[in-house]
Amino acid sequence: MIFIDLKDRTGILQLVIDPKKIPEADGLNLQDCISVKGIVQERPQNQKNPDLPTGEVELNVTKLTILSRSKTPPFVVEEEIKASEELRLKYRYLDLRRLTMQRIIIMRHQIVNAIREYLNSRDFIEIETPILTRSMPEGARDYLVPSRLYPGKFYALAQSPQMYKQLLMVAGFERYYQIARCMRDEDPRHDRQPEFTQLDLEMSFVTEEDIYTVIEGLFQYIFKKVINQDLKIPFPRLTFEEAITKYGTDKPDISFGMEISDLTRTLKNINFPPFTGKEKICGIIVSGAKSISRKHIDNFNEEAKKEGFGGIYWLRKEGGLSGSLSKYIDEGIIDKIGLKEGELLLVCAGDRKIYYFLGELRLSIGDLLNLRGKGYHFLWVYDFPLFEIDEKTGKINPCHHPFTQPKPEDIHLLDTEPLKVRGRQYDLVLNGNEIASGSIRNHDRSLQERIFEILGVDRETAAKKFGLLLEALDYGAPPHGGIAPGIERIVMLLAGVKSIRDVIAFPKTTQAQGLLENIPDFVEPEQLKELHLKIE
Ligand code: ASP
Repeated sequence: MIFIDLKDRTGILQLVIDPKKIPEADGLNLQDCISVKGIVQERPQNQKNPDLPTGEVELNVTKLTILSRSKTPPFVVEEEIKASEELRLKYRYLDLRRLTMQRIIIMRHQIVNAIREYLNSRDFIEIETPILTRSMPEGARDYLVPSRLYPGKFYALAQSPQMYKQLLMVAGFERYYQIARCMRDEDPRHDRQPEFTQLDLEMSFVTEEDIYTVIEGLFQYIFKKVINQDLKIPFPRLTFEEAITKYGTDKPDISFGMEISDLTRTLKNINFPPFTGKEKICGIIVSGAKSISRKHIDNFNEEAKKEGFGGIYWLRKEGGLSGSLSKYIDEGIIDKIGLKEGELLLVCAGDRKIYYFLGELRLSIGDLLNLRGKGYHFLWVYDFPLFEIDEKTGKINPCHHPFTQPKPEDIHLLDTEPLKVRGRQYDLVLNGNEIASGSIRNHDRSLQERIFEILGVDRETAAKKFGLLLEALDYGAPPHGGIAPGIERIVMLLAGVKSIRDVIAFPKTTQAQGLLENIPDFVEPEQLKELHLKIE
């Protein structure tokens, strides 16, 4: 008897073939494409496989047709894949035959389907917007497309439908969404792709609360539908300032505690020289800290020094007190800090930047103690600064994009202290990953023009680059706002995979190459000529 695992996208079925009756079964290769007929029968007791959905049965084949032969594949197509990612990407159509990959791609379909069901049932309209658009600074570098008909002129590939969705609000569609491809020519990074997909969404006559409600309901629906999990809504919220001072990041992982405590008042007068005169003294308390060894602490200390802080100072309460702070701290202070038996206090002093350092430290310890990422912890972060300073160029940039509306109560600071102005921006964070970002927009032309001015875009440039949006705002634009959750990130989290390339059917490498298509590639001189281009 010959046993064969026959695979289609729903799984595996065991075939039993008698080669005397069906001689061609003898010559079958892995990955051949066949069609069979036969009788489904219960497997003998000792051959049942409880781990397979079809493990109780097998197909006793009466007829076999070989539809197409396979050469020996360049790698073994198996679930526990051993082939290099390069080879997998080059022969992606074989890699995608693995049930693991099929499960992810099918889950992606189910997620997108759930999104459509939910939004359609709430009166949203799906509208496509152009991919070929005009080059418009939206944060990233554009991919450009030379025009054949207009020598020297270019289209740009849309970085997002941002401008169009705002125009759709001006056009009166009120509730729009689109599963939108976004293309950004950014520097390669392991978790980025030159093209990715967003659920792009925009609504008129809304406040932040309306956006939160739609998105919370949407995620609740997706989770129930796709992985049968009940999500608790509303999601917790933190202001940007709270996120930074408690977690040292604007995308906190709140799947575990260990928040940063501000100990400035408690510790500034303890006569410990490294703390003297420091703007901030902050720390984290690690419970169950037995497995944090002296060596770990020395490493944290080195890291802190590398970042330009004096170091990490520590105090362990176990039996007695030990650590670099033990001689400087008495019981009264221990009580104020709230350090309990078995806990370890790690402290850093410096300026506001220590929050970011302690935030990283908190995550490393979370990893070390295996505290991270159990369950799904959503969180809204809001009240972001409207602007930020680019550390390299010293230029003022939008924290989100230039269309975000300043908070009305901060508008009076726009000219004098722009960095103190908060924007009506909100991010949705899940287990430490930013999965959506959005804002209430400027629907008032003069306010939008003021923002451009602060960003150093002069009137002429603003008119040239954003003129069509500015003009549209002149014609009774409704107040509007929106958001754009990243589809890949959602699939990664739901499917439990770490690589963005695993949730895209045909991804590019981290170096923005398509190994399957062998792109980017040179083109024929004739094609360049048609496009009025010369390669220098
Ligand atoms: N267009 C924005 C982005 O791609 C999202 C939004 O503001 O709705 O991040």
